[in-house]
Amino acid sequence: MTTETFQFQTEVQQLLELMIHSLYSHKDIFLRELVSNASDATDRLRFEALTKPELLTDGAKLEIRLEVDKDTRTLAIHDNGIGMSKKELVENIGTIAKSGTRELAEKMKKAKAADKSADAGELIGQFGVGFYSSFMVANKVELVTRRAGQKIATKWVSDGKGDYQIDRAEREAHGTSITLHLDPVDEESGLEDFTDEHVLSRIIGRYSDFIAYPIVLRGGPGEDGADGEDKTLNSMKPIWERAASDVTEEEYSEFYKHISHDWRDPLERVLQRAEGTIEYKALLFIPSEAPFDLYYVGHESGLRLYVKRVSIMERCEELLPRYLRFVQGVVDSADLPLNVSREILQHDRQIRQIRKGLQKKILDTLQKMKADDEEKYLKFWTPFGAALKEGVIEDFEHRDKIVELLLFPSSRETEKLTSLADYVERMGEAQDAIYYMTGESRDMIESSPHLEAFRDKGVEVLFLTDAVDEMLMQSLTEYKDKKLQSAGKGTVDLGTDEEKEVQKKELDEKAKTFEALLKRIKTSLADRVKEVRLSSRLTSSPACLVGGEEDVSPRVEKWLRQQQGDAPAQKRILELNPEHPIVTGLKAKFDVHETTEAVSEYSELLYGYSLLAEGSDIPDPADFAKRFAALMQRGLG
Ligand code: ADP
Repeated sequence: MTTETFQFQTEVQQLLELMIHSLYSHKDIFLRELVSNASDATDRLRFEALTKPELLTDGAKLEIRLEVDKDTRTLAIHDNGIGMSKKELVENIGTIAKSGTRELAEKMKKAKAADKSADAGELIGQFGVGFYSSFMVANKVELVTRRAGQKIATKWVSDGKGDYQIDRAEREAHGTSITLHLDPVDEESGLEDFTDEHVLSRIIGRYSDFIAYPIVLRGGPGEDGADGEDKTLNSMKPIWERAASDVTEEEYSEFYKHISHDWRDPLERVLQRAEGTIEYKALLFIPSEAPFDLYYVGHESGLRLYVKRVSIMERCEELLPRYLRFVQGVVDSADLPLNVSREILQHDRQIRQIRKGLQKKILDTLQKMKADDEEKYLKFWTPFGAALKEGVIEDFEHRDKIVELLLFPSSRETEKLTSLADYVERMGEAQDAIYYMTGESRDMIESSPHLEAFRDKGVEVLFLTDAVDEMLMQSLTEYKDKKLQSAGKGTVDLGTDEEKEVQKKELDEKAKTFEALLKRIKTSLADRVKEVRLSSRLTSSPACLVGGEEDVSPRVEKWLRQQQGDAPAQKRILELNPEHPIVTGLKAKFDVHETTEAVSEYSELLYGYSLLAEGSDIPDPADFAKRFAALMQRGLG
């Protein structure tokens, strides 16, 4: 085979350029990333070997070896893990095969434009592109790898500048060796002497002590030419086995980064030790920010599963419900068989019990955080609140608990979020429902005419802008015996019982005098509205569209139509404000001359206006624009 040259994917090229020119000072993390990959690859080998024992080379100890050569200034990291086939190599190293590549490219452009070196570091962890960090310290990287179960090895070489070369190679056994041709030492910019035993020992101790395989530094020949001694640089102690008081925050943090591929420190740590009928230890983390794809369909989640300290699965989804997918961590169980398969896990009673225990522990932790540390809870809520809302919809067992964890923006304050409990606490005596309004954004909801009467009467309305909110509200219809009611649906009557009665009487009387006009408008718009009536929710706008109690919101309707183009349009109710000069003026005209042209013209305009005012699209903007221009012209004429 001759050498083949491949171009890096554009996003990788951009990333590499950032790496090479990075001013990021913690360049030593490259070792953490490479060791972490080596450890994952070894875990994977062991996992595959459970069903294919022939993959393990006889007698070979699973370990990670570091080898330095001071003369050539190279550092090599060897593992005897799963290795990669040529195909896997091209897929894994050279492209970023994840769904968020476009976003990554965007972020990189921004980071570059702002010349923020720290951002480059952020990106490594956020997108799981750890291998490329080697180019922060090396001007050339060679990788030789052989997939377990295959005979052929492949070599990959690059200087990180646009392309890489692939060749066939020799390798004695399965695994991967990565050789870094190190940049000259420049301590000021974080380039230490990575061929120095003390430097390596310190870095491994700091970032990778918990790695479950020995990280062995092969000693060079002594001064007298005698063979050097191998030295193991890490303690290999599982961090969840150690007493919390013996583990530093930094150690926990580094462990979190290893298992999550995140760059940032976690927001919260949760330690659980269960003893009794079922025995397990769990070390869980709540990240400080959401991975970019948390709310996408393909997002992979799951906890690492260990059986008696042996890692058997990287992502065990069965350990947590989907709505808690943001939680990272490990679970070590004493009771599961080592060769457990996914099929078994799905029906395993112990897994179900562990899942129950973890779920309770996490919800309790969040509840406590919410009660004790508002600021921290808000940091949790901002990225992950929308996921918890899925829990209200899916998890009937813990629903009441999750509902107490919800926070919403509301009309009461611009900055602060409110819980349902606090909302209810503030409700006036006469108010019998919790009001909310869904929409694309706070601005859009705030300026919608539907809220006028609420504002006028000082009734608080929750603003719901998350995509999941529509589903949430279909599922959450009551809280503490109070109905949750959309401000954009049904009729609105606010105030004390007496006030309501007076209002209703007034409106009924007015409706009588408006009856003929309302009927006429209804005829005009019959193909689009199901009813035309007077409104008690408007104070300054002439008209708005509202849904019936059972109708879906305009936002949901829009989605449905995007998904199934021919979904029938839902007819809503046109409400008119009987105090508004446009409405009273139209009535005056109609009273004099019942066949007036103005009614059908104004029906169209009021309908279009109502759609625009709530932020919906109008079906025929050109037609509306024409009518509007004609109206303006008449106004001047
Ligand atoms: P990440 O580790 O976050 O997935 P990397 O860019 O560091 O991102 O690695 C990309 C992929 O390359 C890994 O997911 C893994 O499949 C593969 N890989 C990296 N290093 C090794 C290794 N030492 N042995 C086997 N596969 C590896």
